Amino acid sequence: MISQQKYWNPVLETLAHEKIRKLQLEKFKRIFSWTHERSRFHRGLYVQAGIKPGDIRSFEDIRRIPTVEKSMMRGIQRKDPFPYGDALCVPLEEVSEFRQTSGTTGQPVYQADTWQDWEWWAESWAYILWAQGYRPKDRVFLPFGYNVFVAFWAGHYAAEKIGAEVVPGGVLDTQARILKIQELQCTAMMATPTYVLGMADTAKTKMGIDPRSLAIRKITCAGEPGASIPTTKKRMEDAWDAKVYDHAGATEIGAWCFECEAQSGGLHVNEAFFLVEIQDTETGEYIEVPGRRGKMIITALDRQAQPCVRFDSKDIIEWAPEPCPCGRSFRLIKGGVVGRADDITKVKGVLLAPSAIEEVVRGLDGLADEFEVIVDKEGDIDRITLKIEILKGREGERKRIEAQLKDQLRLKTNLGYNLEFHDYGMLPRYDVKAKRFKDLRGKH
Ligand SMILES: [Zn+2]
Repeated sequence: MISQQKYWNPVLETLAHEKIRKLQLEKFKRIFSWTHERSRFHRGLYVQAGIKPGDIRSFEDIRRIPTVEKSMMRGIQRKDPFPYGDALCVPLEEVSEFRQTSGTTGQPVYQADTWQDWEWWAESWAYILWAQGYRPKDRVFLPFGYNVFVAFWAGHYAAEKIGAEVVPGGVLDTQARILKIQELQCTAMMATPTYVLGMADTAKTKMGIDPRSLAIRKITCAGEPGASIPTTKKRMEDAWDAKVYDHAGATEIGAWCFECEAQSGGLHVNEAFFLVEIQDTETGEYIEVPGRRGKMIITALDRQAQPCVRFDSKDIIEWAPEPCPCGRSFRLIKGGVVGRADDITKVKGVLLAPSAIEEVVRGLDGLADEFEVIVDKEGDIDRITLKIEILKGREGERKRIEAQLKDQLRLKTNLGYNLEFHDYGMLPRYDVKAKRFKDLRGKH
């Protein structure tokens, strides 16, 4: 019976690395030819670089192919075939899905998928859910607004595909969602880390329901790095008495990596569906060895309507040194997506990744889940203000918390902070992705 299977695809997930690489190369050639032939936008780039499909014989050859950035996609859209523009590789009538990127800055990028692409999305998510222990007996609650963003649409379809039961919690508010989870004894759910913590907080403080008493035992996160930040993960797992798993995906890429039940501190790249390359942001060198960080260049090997070929994702990742104990041969990236090249800013000449601040705040006993970071200038000097909330009844510990916070922030980020304590509940709450990091330098 399928429920007994350890892997969703026992062949591909345990294929020897050399064989996976061979498969990737063959698939890459196919998607490159497809794109070269059908996308005027991509062909323009390739002609300029002097590269034709027949030139691709090795992974080294692939590296000569120009990368595509999100800003380039913005530039070609809102034109014919409307609204996708020159990168559309199929006749408009074959497009069955519209989505758009959910980034908080800049114009969104529209994404077209055919029905075949959409089945590919569901299949890639089936790998994720199966690896995280979802089985046909699960009752999965989806607490998100069903709209133009892809999260968690594909999770919904994949849960159905593996035979689980799906409870759509779309237009309900947070309290109604919690009651529905309780009423139906749902066993799993998918949400952003911000919302996982927010729901637990609402259940406890507004409804007198301990989320641990509910039947949710698996939570799949996306959209933010929280589930790969150990202290945030622990807060979520403790709040719900559930296993919390990370996954990473993007509208214009697909669901390209996932944590498995072994929770080994890394995320598996679905190497049967995606080719991940890591490039040093300073030297441009490609990184094959574990332990060196760089930005991810990714190709979705099977996506057809609006292909993702050598997309410069700006995600900062590194290969993990050890294989995962789960037995999958898909390589792991250590600690998930550790940041985005765009998010990592220089403050007082020091490189700062906002996730490092999150790790410290979420690890401190006595602080609430919310926080906000503001970088601005005092005269010519950068200043970072960290706003935090003390939990109710813990106000007396402020001195201890302040000292620990200063120490740990200095240790993790090498920077000094201006700390601003607020009463519990005073900082903004978010339903989906939070915007906790604000860089106001140059904006006055
Ligand atoms: Zn694993």
